[in-house]
Amino acid sequence: MDFAMTVFELEPGESFSGAPHKHLNQEELFYITEGTATWHTKADAGAEPEVFEVGAGEVVHFAADDVFQTGVNESDGVVKGFAMGVPGSRHEWEKALGLVDCPECGDETVHTFRVVEGAADVRMPDPEEMVIACRECGNEL
Ligand SMILES: [Zn+2]
Repeated sequence: MDFAMTVFELEPGESFSGAPHKHLNQEELFYITEGTATWHTKADAGAEPEVFEVGAGEVVHFAADDVFQTGVNESDGVVKGFAMGVPGSRHEWEKALGLVDCPECGDETVHTFRVVEGAADVRMPDPEEMVIACRECGNEL
């Protein structure tokens, strides 16, 4: 199989990802089956955010190297659905970019991800096994 599919169930306040991010080599499609998710997207670091809701029976699609995006359950109920990514059966962290506030730059900047050597789970590494680096100044979180 050359795609990844994840079934998700988000409690109120939970999000799909820790930070707004994009994949340079992977498309992502989210299909909501229950509840309403809220997506926040940005064209680039420091750009005006766009916010929209995706309800049950609706899909949201992001192309490779699309906007930075993060989905959150901002409702009072549960959000259920499927997430699909193609191509590739797993996320390649080295091909992903995120928007994070950089303490050195004092601003929101584009960050790269890298999993440390010897991480137990490369697909979903622990936070301490992940190096998140500012692309502007090189500062590592
Ligand atoms: Zn920086």
